[in-house]
Amino acid sequence: MHRSLAAWDHAYLWHPFTQMQEWEQEEPLIIHKGKGSYLIDTEGRKYLDGTSSIWVNIHGHRHPRLDRALTAQLGQIAHSTFLGLSNPPAIRLARELIRVAPKGLQRVFYSDNGSTAVEVALKMAVQYWQQRQPTAGTKHSFLHLKLAYHGDTIGAVSVGNIELFHARFKTLLFPTLEVDPPYCYRCPLRLTYPACHMACIDPLESLLKARHRELAGVILEPLVQAAAGMLTAPPGYLTRVRELCTKYNVLLIADEVATGFGRTGKMFACQHEGVTPDLMAISKGMTGGYMPLAATLATEEIYHAFLGRYDEWKTFFHGHSYTGNPLGCAVALANLDIFRREKTLTHVRKQTKLLARLLRPTASLGHVGEIRQCGLMAGIELVQDRTTRTPYPLQMRIGHRVAQVCRQGGLLMRPLGNVIALVPPLSTSPQELTKMVAILHRAIVDVT
Ligand code: PLP
Repeated sequence: MHRSLAAWDHAYLWHPFTQMQEWEQEEPLIIHKGKGSYLIDTEGRKYLDGTSSIWVNIHGHRHPRLDRALTAQLGQIAHSTFLGLSNPPAIRLARELIRVAPKGLQRVFYSDNGSTAVEVALKMAVQYWQQRQPTAGTKHSFLHLKLAYHGDTIGAVSVGNIELFHARFKTLLFPTLEVDPPYCYRCPLRLTYPACHMACIDPLESLLKARHRELAGVILEPLVQAAAGMLTAPPGYLTRVRELCTKYNVLLIADEVATGFGRTGKMFACQHEGVTPDLMAISKGMTGGYMPLAATLATEEIYHAFLGRYDEWKTFFHGHSYTGNPLGCAVALANLDIFRREKTLTHVRKQTKLLARLLRPTASLGHVGEIRQCGLMAGIELVQDRTTRTPYPLQMRIGHRVAQVCRQGGLLMRPLGNVIALVPPLSTSPQELTKMVAILHRAIVDVT
């Protein structure tokens, strides 16, 4: 079975974020099954899922409650349109999401993936200002952080800033304003936290002050800029951005696609600082890693700006064929139910401490520049020279090489350039976490 699957993969497939010329020369790893924190390939080999299958898996693979929720919903209906119709799981899920979301978010708009949840937020923000202040007219632009990643569709790429992914598409993008992120290890101001008093917020404030009349929103990933290399913001940064957005009458859009659903130790990262954004994009962990589903949550204030007679043309003309998909919503409901039943957030907090302890010896390795951790997302930045913080040239693919050695040791990883990202399922046991870090540590020693 495996031989023909491998040949067909090479003959017919095009994988995301993958140099296919290289892929075609390698034996593809074909995942056949999963159980808990493990993935099992067609040869029966077991691997720890160190990326939570790209940050989506929450309660492990094949959780009986998630399996049952999905099959029970299949017994009713797989899909019907959400345009002009509704369905029970989508309604119930919206109510539950509002219950667990930052207070003040009141409306749920479904879509299918993190990028579309961001697109929806951007479009809502622009239309909101048109309808809220028709005479002001020009609040159509966005401010975002450098190194941001909000997805791969054109709107999301416009508010992103990862040169390698985005530079080629510049002609397709709309103009935005950007400021340096709070990347303390490589502080552009060459200051040190906390003595810096978060001086990196000043350029953001200056831009808001000067350009708020054209700004519809500020978009950021709260607490952790994940794809940028797990850049953790200092405490209080998010609160300050919220205050500034309010002061300058600009919407705050929180992209919780990566940080949502318990990843940071709270259901949503914004809740660490008691911040309520005006719009919030969620996806990834929403279905526990089972189905593609996403949502954009909005305040009642924003929702109300879209109400009116049909011929006032205030309708939000946006939707997808699979919006509000009942299978996705049913499994997402079960996902939230498990959070309560299994006290997932308590487990995450314990595992967070364990992970920090386990990573301590790795932090003192000769080519580890910095380890950044927030909940169960950790980034290990490898550097060519620790004293000067000189990065490895990207073409050396140091992260990729570490991931290859991890794979031989039974751990699947996906690097972010020179940063090794460890993002285990939230349900990972202490033993599994210990094993993951041991394999990773050994791989870093071997490769660097
Ligand atoms: N926003 C953030 C913060 C992400 O990390 C990602 C994906 O990694 C996205 C948006 C895009 O989500 P998706 O890959 O589901 O389109």
